Amino acid sequence: MKTNLLLSSLAASLILAFPVQAADKTKASKTVAAVVEEAPLRAHLALISSDLFEGRGTGQRGGDLTVQYLESQSQVIGLKPGNGNSYRQLVKIAGVKAQPQQSSLQLVAGGNPLAIEFGKDWVWAPGDAVASHQFDTDIVFVGYGISAAEEKWDDYKGQDVTGKLLVMMVNDPQPTAQEPNRFGGKALTYYGRWTYKYEEAKRRGAAGVLLIHTDASASYGWSVVQNGGTAEKFQLQGAALGTALQGWISEDTARKLFSGAGQDLDQLRAAAERSDFKPVTLSAKLTGEEKADIRTVEQYNVAAVVPGTDPKLKDELVIYSAHWDHLGKQGTSGDTIYNGAVDNGSGTAALLAMAKAALQAPAKRSQMFLWVAAEEQGLLGSALYAAQPLWPLEKTAANLNLDSLNFVGVTRDMSTRGSERTELGDMAAKVAKNMGLVIAPAEPDLSGGYFRSDHFSFAKAGIPAFSVGGGKDYVKDPEAAKEKAKAYGKRYHQASDEFDPTWDLSGMVQQAQFTLNLGRAVADSPKMPAWKAGDPLGKLRAK
Ligand SMILES: [Zn+2]
Repeated sequence: MKTNLLLSSLAASLILAFPVQAADKTKASKTVAAVVEEAPLRAHLALISSDLFEGRGTGQRGGDLTVQYLESQSQVIGLKPGNGNSYRQLVKIAGVKAQPQQSSLQLVAGGNPLAIEFGKDWVWAPGDAVASHQFDTDIVFVGYGISAAEEKWDDYKGQDVTGKLLVMMVNDPQPTAQEPNRFGGKALTYYGRWTYKYEEAKRRGAAGVLLIHTDASASYGWSVVQNGGTAEKFQLQGAALGTALQGWISEDTARKLFSGAGQDLDQLRAAAERSDFKPVTLSAKLTGEEKADIRTVEQYNVAAVVPGTDPKLKDELVIYSAHWDHLGKQGTSGDTIYNGAVDNGSGTAALLAMAKAALQAPAKRSQMFLWVAAEEQGLLGSALYAAQPLWPLEKTAANLNLDSLNFVGVTRDMSTRGSERTELGDMAAKVAKNMGLVIAPAEPDLSGGYFRSDHFSFAKAGIPAFSVGGGKDYVKDPEAAKEKAKAYGKRYHQASDEFDPTWDLSGMVQQAQFTLNLGRAVADSPKMPAWKAGDPLGKLRAK
């Protein structure tokens, strides 16, 4: 009885996963199915989202337990270690907390120090994990701080900004009537992200960066900047370090600074909307000492491999990734455990279930299952992997990332935003078709979502990459399903992101199966996918 039940449910999931192949016998005989099963996915998800795992916090016991669990499960499944004899890759993280009380930093405009307060008017911290820096530094306004050859735009105009403090605007140049499509039109390009601005300033040897906050340009209020700026921040040690000072000033503070220096902020901002803008050295300085507390936290990425079967192609790799960390234990009263069942217990568990399936039917290229650390602290584990790859980047065909999966139910569509930047887009459409699915219509990326997930660390390193999102066109009871999905907004990054045993995980299995099918299509393809011509990430890759 039991065996029969198991067989029939397996057959049902086979048909769900491969409706077209099942109908086409000749193809079906060629394609050995790698079927993602619900049972292991559900079991892993229930356990790692339980209070026993304490929210998988960075630098916390629950995080250590998670790494141990993923390592042990990789052994149980029969995956090969991804880092020599080890499943672990060390991710050395610096915890950095600004110490404004012990610091003497001042903004001086026209010879007069501004009366400004840390937190209320400006926030900063070292971007290079160094505890003390001394400044006596000129201040230069560099507009958007963008240098983009393909947009024929360069805010720096060749000016040497070594050792300078750069003040700049967030976002990217806005579309105009003449140029409605510049910098992606209304969508945010990577040049608009503050991470890019810090990186560009670092490449140019600047001493520091202060970003001018406005509610409209940042899409969140100053209180968000203030909370983030006064809390401990995490950054990688020894890789991808930033400038000596990174931070934000409120719009009011910017006004004081510019008018104190005899300049008009609004006029300069208007000038910065034009491509003939040149940097403006303000009659202003940053002086004094910046102090911060620095501590080191050792975390791990977990990497496990299903070797490829083709004698040549097995040296090339497809990476599936999911961040294992969440927010851990916080506070002292009420529910102190941020379980992160959806974010990202779902992706973590899905990868284990996918790896088990992949082993049953290996592909021509090798496949790596990579659980990255410290995503919630700023994509740190994936950034470390890109800086110190376990497999040559030029032999890495693609990265497919999973973060916060569908816990509502099966859909008719699948979201593949960002795949259109590379040949992965066309491959995804074919895989979807084979599964009887459609690709969800792309919505403009107004808030730069493509730049905020772990796949972006790989994309920056030149690897075609995107995160497979869930669908929205629910098959069963669509109105109720939509409500259920929408209600997650209230649990996002809260202690209430908990596992519910009544969840219909068929949509999660479907999303994992789609991801695995796409990864296997890439792994079996004669050629590795390429970027579409003219994508600005082609330029970022070289640096
Ligand atoms: Zn999160």
